[in-house]
Amino acid sequence: MTLPQCDTPPTPQETADLRERYRVERERRVRPEGPGQYRATAAEFGYFAADPYVDDVAEREPLRDVVDVAIVGGGFGGILAGARLRGQGVAKVRVIDKGGDFGGTWYWNRYPGIHCDIESYVYLPLLDETGHVPEWKYAPGEEIRRHAVRIAEQFGLYEDALFSTAVTSLAWDESTQQWVVTTDRGDTFRATYVITATGTLTEPKLPGIPGIENYRGHTFHTSRWDYGYTGGSPEGGMTGLAGKRVAVVGTGATGVQVIPMLAEDAGHLYVFQRTPSAVDVRGQRRMTPQDVGADRPGWAAERRDNFLRIASGEGAEQDLVADRWTESAGLLEKLLPSFRRDGEPDFEAAYEAADHATMNQVRERVAAEVTDPATASALQPWYRYACKRPAFSDKYLPAFNRDNVTLVDTADTHGIEHMTERGVVVGGVEYEVDCVVFATGFSVGVSGITSGELPVTGRGGVQLLHARAQQGPRTLHGFTSNGFPNLIQMGSLQNASSVNFTHILDEQAVHAAALVTAAEEKNAVVEPTPDAESAWIDVCAKGAPDHEWFHADCTPGYYNREGRGRPNGPTAYPHGAVAFHDLLRSWREEKITEALQSKATALA
Ligand code: NDP
Repeated sequence: MTLPQCDTPPTPQETADLRERYRVERERRVRPEGPGQYRATAAEFGYFAADPYVDDVAEREPLRDVVDVAIVGGGFGGILAGARLRGQGVAKVRVIDKGGDFGGTWYWNRYPGIHCDIESYVYLPLLDETGHVPEWKYAPGEEIRRHAVRIAEQFGLYEDALFSTAVTSLAWDESTQQWVVTTDRGDTFRATYVITATGTLTEPKLPGIPGIENYRGHTFHTSRWDYGYTGGSPEGGMTGLAGKRVAVVGTGATGVQVIPMLAEDAGHLYVFQRTPSAVDVRGQRRMTPQDVGADRPGWAAERRDNFLRIASGEGAEQDLVADRWTESAGLLEKLLPSFRRDGEPDFEAAYEAADHATMNQVRERVAAEVTDPATASALQPWYRYACKRPAFSDKYLPAFNRDNVTLVDTADTHGIEHMTERGVVVGGVEYEVDCVVFATGFSVGVSGITSGELPVTGRGGVQLLHARAQQGPRTLHGFTSNGFPNLIQMGSLQNASSVNFTHILDEQAVHAAALVTAAEEKNAVVEPTPDAESAWIDVCAKGAPDHEWFHADCTPGYYNREGRGRPNGPTAYPHGAVAFHDLLRSWREEKITEALQSKATALA
């Protein structure tokens, strides 16, 4: 099959050929079990999720005190909520996290080569406020983790924080108008407000490979890197892998970052791939403060807004970030409702043409960089660009030109067939290895209050999940729900989303702090009326774009519930993050009291 040229629209025949190829490639990978094909890192596999960064959890007395705000989760969501609350003068803020420190994703993920592929000057929050100016266009994970710590220190969040502690229940006590918070360390304390910032990609998952439990070599998940075994650091130098045969399973955004590092240090590296990532140009480089105008007040907020506008398809006079995210926004924006608002008569065809051009570039790059034709062919992705999260690397593809790297494609066997005591079997061939690294991602939606992992009991003993099972999720702006006073939820549900999620979290943190401040000023509780929730659900439902046509044809992954299409119902505000933030700003100025009820009313 010939590839259409990038600068000319595909002919009808080329379009038909590509569609057929995409269908065939999807069928090779769809598994009947869908998301059920994975195993949780729990029970006999619980050691995969254990915290490798804390040797001994220090004993402490259970707490029985009262705080102003309890924040569940010490990643950027919780840190930003804490910082914004401190900025409003809230005194006693307690962040609780399962990890041994602040950082969330960046606490857990410390694998070699870890970076954020969103530009550091827009990804790292509160740069204006902390004065930190990153050195690299794409920040290493350790710098991001330290920035999380920097913010927590600057805003005094360590004082009351609880680490290596999981919140086990939240229950509203009507008599005191407080939340009762219990934890797995025996704490039972009270909080006037609770903010949940529990993230989405938090629980590492394993493939349900038959015989996985029989493997006798060393094994771990990328989000719990075992430097005790490999030696080295996120910068590499894994002397423990010298002469070792290493398998890595998974070639998503994590695999793409870690594989070049393993290739450098392992005796031999076997890369077990099921679906190739679309690996775009990265362009890592050092930048000076002058490059980003860091001498002007407000420079970081301006750059972050500029990125959000472009990534949301709103356009901007100037592209300050100018990387593959912003360049491909022209493609991704065609999936946004604003594209249809603009009256494009045949948006699917327009999207498809743009998509083919982008994916052909990605495929041509593989052919140009990988010398062995069979390996290059196996590394070419055959699906639409937005079916999976794009990856960015200038080191990944050349790693496959090394003599000590073997790509083992597992698409025809729907992944690894089984594991033995000695290694990994694909296509009847046993690959004996000393170590298996699982770069197999995370279970989506299994942690926090939306999963049942953390039961939330509101007024009258109503369980949040039970209420949602009966009526669907009901919120005002995604933050608050009737019957659950002073509970503020951070996340994408009926809220906004963007690839630069720390920006979304910061806007949410500002909003959460404003709600708390308004309630304190009015001696009220934060709680929307059922009518306000209904109105918001209508807003979300009416403008919801129909992405079913897109995801139904996509190769399986966590974006489409492993090939089953999108979950039903409105999940996020449909008109994009820029519009949502504008809406929230004016709502805070004019209508914030609508989200409050007097304590007396609530009690009645
Ligand atoms: P993913 O879920 O994206 O990837 C998991 C990988 O494991 C896929 O390649 C998958 O193949 C493969 N896999 C699963 N089961 C099997 C099996 N049985 N046999 C062989 N292969 C298998 O996880 P990641 O950790 O890579 O990324 C998760 C998310 O984390 C990203 O989407 C991104 O949002 C975020 N991230 C962000 C980064 C950043 O720089 N900002 C960096 C890294 C991650 P298949 O595709 O066929 O399912």
